[in-house]
Amino acid sequence: MAITDKIYVKNHQQLASQLETSFPKSAFSGATLDILFQGEGLAKLDEATQDRVLDFAEDFLDCDCQANPHCGCAERKFIRYLLELREQGMGPDAIVDVMGEEYMLYAYPGDVLSFLDNSIRTLEAAEMLADVDDHPEKADELRSVRENLAR
Ligand SMILES: [Zn+2]
Repeated sequence: MAITDKIYVKNHQQLASQLETSFPKSAFSGATLDILFQGEGLAKLDEATQDRVLDFAEDFLDCDCQANPHCGCAERKFIRYLLELREQGMGPDAIVDVMGEEYMLYAYPGDVLSFLDNSIRTLEAAEMLADVDDHPEKADELRSVRENLAR
């Protein structure tokens, strides 16, 4: 399962009752994107929640794809967001805190940790391939990205 399948909406019950409808707890599930983040229900949410929902929509759902919000851009952007937080030196607990403050989302720190470990392993594998294929510049680039994540 991708990390984006393990990102959840905080205060899910409360939001569902404000919207007077149910939606999945998982933030990137298709129905959540439709109902919570692109729905007509925004006005029914309290102000603090509205701000975060709008921030999420602006930051992750702003592409022009025809299939928006089901095109996969949101997931890709969110993964980039997690990696950027890591590059700023944050550990899994801090990353979970920040996504909570910024977007009212949460994840289990253990899931974030395995996502980061997997990303580093993926980069290592790509680095080795680049070396084998004789693309030393590409390998160097991947190495520096990896070292930023691993430090
Ligand atoms: Zn898109």
